[in-house]
Amino acid sequence: MDILKNYINGAWVNSRENTTIDVINPATQEVMGKVPFGSKTAEDLGLAVEAAETAFKSWSQVPVMQRVQPLYKLKYLLEENLEDLAKTITMECGKTLTESRGELQRAIENVEVACGMPVMMQSEFSENIAGGIDEFMIRQPLGVCVCISPFNFPGMIPFWFLPYAIAAGNTFIIKPSEKVPFTMDKVFRLIEQLDLPKGVVNLVHGGKDTVDAMLDHPKIRAISFVGSTKVAKYIYSRGTGNGKRIQAQGGAKNPIVILPDADIEMSTQIITDSTFGCAGQRCLAASNIITVGDSKGSIKESLYESAKNRTTGYGLDESIEMGPVINSASKERISELIDQGLNEGGKLVLDGRNTRISGFEKGNFIQPTIIENLPLDGEILKTEIFGPVMSLIQLDTIDEALKFVNHGAYGNMACIFTSSGANARKFRSLANAGNIGINIGVAAPMAQFPFSGWKESFFGDLHGQGRHAVEFFTQTKVVIERWPKEWSRKF
Ligand code: NAD
Repeated sequence: MDILKNYINGAWVNSRENTTIDVINPATQEVMGKVPFGSKTAEDLGLAVEAAETAFKSWSQVPVMQRVQPLYKLKYLLEENLEDLAKTITMECGKTLTESRGELQRAIENVEVACGMPVMMQSEFSENIAGGIDEFMIRQPLGVCVCISPFNFPGMIPFWFLPYAIAAGNTFIIKPSEKVPFTMDKVFRLIEQLDLPKGVVNLVHGGKDTVDAMLDHPKIRAISFVGSTKVAKYIYSRGTGNGKRIQAQGGAKNPIVILPDADIEMSTQIITDSTFGCAGQRCLAASNIITVGDSKGSIKESLYESAKNRTTGYGLDESIEMGPVINSASKERISELIDQGLNEGGKLVLDGRNTRISGFEKGNFIQPTIIENLPLDGEILKTEIFGPVMSLIQLDTIDEALKFVNHGAYGNMACIFTSSGANARKFRSLANAGNIGINIGVAAPMAQFPFSGWKESFFGDLHGQGRHAVEFFTQTKVVIERWPKEWSRKF
């Protein structure tokens, strides 16, 4: 059985840690391999930081136009190997092949945008701010930067950071989720072909021990984290306490508001895709569906029909529309939350528990589930379920809907479905969330925009992707210089 290796200083090396945990295919329960997990992974991290620190000295001096050249090659390698990578994502993470291909496309788009670093890092210059004095601001890289990623987008999330960090002249270490480490292992087989100098990009496996070593290592300048809110808060407080630059994206509980003038047919498909796509394990998954006025009558039935007919199974089968959740603990947690909702007074419109998929009886499958009548102040409408569960909420006015949307602790995404420009504009302006969808169910920003997030969904200032990533991975230096005219030589 494969024990995954780390990639440090341009070589594949065994971890110093002998303890491993199994990586399990969530549909079949087959053990795909083993990943190092324990206190000695902190030593692996130390070696990676040493390599990255050494590499930084020369990599930061390479002209930016040259630093982006490996990214062009990486884009083509990712495209050439997309099917193989998609298959790996589906096998370890459970999502459908279409979803896996989609997340890789998003990764590639970030590589493309980061290729614009020569322009994005350009300095700002003011000539003659006073007699013979010029002032300009340059951007310089920070040093060793790291990324800690969650299980649900193993192929995409590291790319919100990696291409920008290295194009800006930093060196980088990735720690994937221990639940899905194979995708990055495969990506690094491609990175290996880029002729990057040793130590510029490194891969270290592990869990909390590796993360804690990152938080405390004095040579690590910046940390990009994506995962649950509890861990994001921890990363932010311990990391900033140690003087590091931190961006920490957390969990979510995303509302969608449906006004009576929404296009029901279009909205139904988009909203069910948002809630049940990736089996609900998406930080931009719609969870609370708020019908306003008489919109409920028309859409409840169509949401039910669309959810009921979603084909669930092993994602490697192209006809499958929804895969399993990540592990049995997650399946159990989701079922318990559904039970809790029923105890709070909720009523099941569609029950996806007790699902048996022929040929995959041991898989972590839950089919689409819809609950209504939940109390507005109950736990289920507040808690991130991270599974294929939709809660239907009925309110009378857009103002009540906005109040409910803004009452929540999270602020990752809020969407509205309407054909009224004025109502859409009001919602876009007043909803307290970092990503807003107007007749869009998964408001995932393209690579040139920051992946925003507010409230308990984000800790820090600068987000991943686009110009925010450029700012996060650089520090500014302002230079004021005096060259009076009279000093110019006459030739
Ligand atoms: P998680 O917080 O359990 O794990 C994320 C990473 O942190 C992993 O690499 C893990 O090894 C590490 N980790 C876990 N526990 C830790 C601890 N106690 N101390 C230090 N490190 C620890 O998250 P997950 O279950 O892998 O991912 C799902 C969560 O991620 C959901 O809450 C989801 O909303 C969130 N998410 C957010 C975004 C976003 O952009 N806001 C995107 C994707 C996922």
